[in-house]
Amino acid sequence: MTEARRWLERLTLRASEDVVARSIGHAETLHFGAGSQAELRAEFDAASAALFQFGTMSGDVHKAWSALCGRIGDDGVSERLSAISEQLEIGATSGGEVCAETRAFADGSYLIMVDHGMANLTWLAASLFVLSRRTTLLGVPPAHAPLDAEIAARALRLSVARIAAGGRAGVVPSLILQPTELSLAGALVREMDVFLLAHEASHILLEHLGGSTEPRKWGHAEEISADLLAAILVFDDMFTAGEAQESLVRLRIIAIRLLFCVLDLHERDCHLTMSASHPPAGERWHTLIERRFTAMFTDLDELLEPAELLPRALAGLASDTRLADPGKVKAGLGERLDSTLWSYRDWSTSALLGRRLCTTAAEALQALLAWPDWGDGTDAAQEVGALVATALGTDQLVALAKSMRTSAHAFRRLAVAQIVSPAVEGVIAERRLEGSFPSWAVTCIVMELLGNAAARR
Ligand SMILES: [Zn+2]
Repeated sequence: MTEARRWLERLTLRASEDVVARSIGHAETLHFGAGSQAELRAEFDAASAALFQFGTMSGDVHKAWSALCGRIGDDGVSERLSAISEQLEIGATSGGEVCAETRAFADGSYLIMVDHGMANLTWLAASLFVLSRRTTLLGVPPAHAPLDAEIAARALRLSVARIAAGGRAGVVPSLILQPTELSLAGALVREMDVFLLAHEASHILLEHLGGSTEPRKWGHAEEISADLLAAILVFDDMFTAGEAQESLVRLRIIAIRLLFCVLDLHERDCHLTMSASHPPAGERWHTLIERRFTAMFTDLDELLEPAELLPRALAGLASDTRLADPGKVKAGLGERLDSTLWSYRDWSTSALLGRRLCTTAAEALQALLAWPDWGDGTDAAQEVGALVATALGTDQLVALAKSMRTSAHAFRRLAVAQIVSPAVEGVIAERRLEGSFPSWAVTCIVMELLGNAAARR
């Protein structure tokens, strides 16, 4: 048994057979009526069998790896990838992280792990894209009544808010898709997985990994070069053939765009500061465009236009209402929402917590200035300034600011809020402000200041 295999066994949490059987049963009633296509049915049965076999979604990741290897036309790279494949374990973790990771071991084996948190978010993003698109993709025309892109963006953001608030990642609204939509969403997710694996494979090919259980220390340059090589690997079949099938190019570009859109949203909403080793997803995407795709595709703008649907809608959500109302998501998804699995209570809690964690200082200040009980003649802005300064001067927050400035690790919003909130509450209690005072808004301002200070490290 290789070291990688041993680690895989240790890290894998398998779903029990009855849990797998229940979720397959549910998917079956949801997606398959009488007269569904035999081809899709066969795909579904194969996926179900893999789920039973692994107890995780790793079957999907295996398929994406084979798809990637099958695309490589360059003999040298192809040989190296088959050598790596022989020493490679691929698995799916269920820690709820939205990430993928590669480890190299002293015995020459490798382990690539993709988390269910990532798999579920990419699945949701792909499904929402399929339902809201206005353009034909892989020969499948848009839905008769496409989903409003704004609703799609809200649903995605609400799901990320749940992760930000510490909810189990991977719990996303369950959507009802028609068989052709289902296979289209599947094709998009497969392409996202292929890019993700191409990125991880690039770390191995470029020898970024040391032979230990911990990834070797690397930084932005290594991440960017893994992305740039991945972009070549993913399209290598087309380079080799000397021609590109337009519908496939479109599919791949949209998938990669959606992947970075999901990563970007997750980073912004869940993390107050990023780890020193990882460039932000937005920056990675722009580097890919500038240093790869612009040269690869003459009609890039036209290719990217449909792919920008969700990123644009996300950017367009008015910041003060984007999480406020899960009812809007439910109503907007309409009959596309699998309402048997929708809990109004859970999603309102996520929306509220997510909103409290992600409110910008400007929005928070507005809420504070609008508080009706400041008392006559009080300069509310000055009072807020004093509260914030006092909170930042407490021992707990001075220590937190220092660790945020000096640590190379990312800081989650939730973790920071758990330290900032009690410190702020303490300061507010001393000032004897009334119970209705929006102390959460002071926490938001303090968090943004801490984040900004750490970002300048
Ligand atoms: Zn990487």
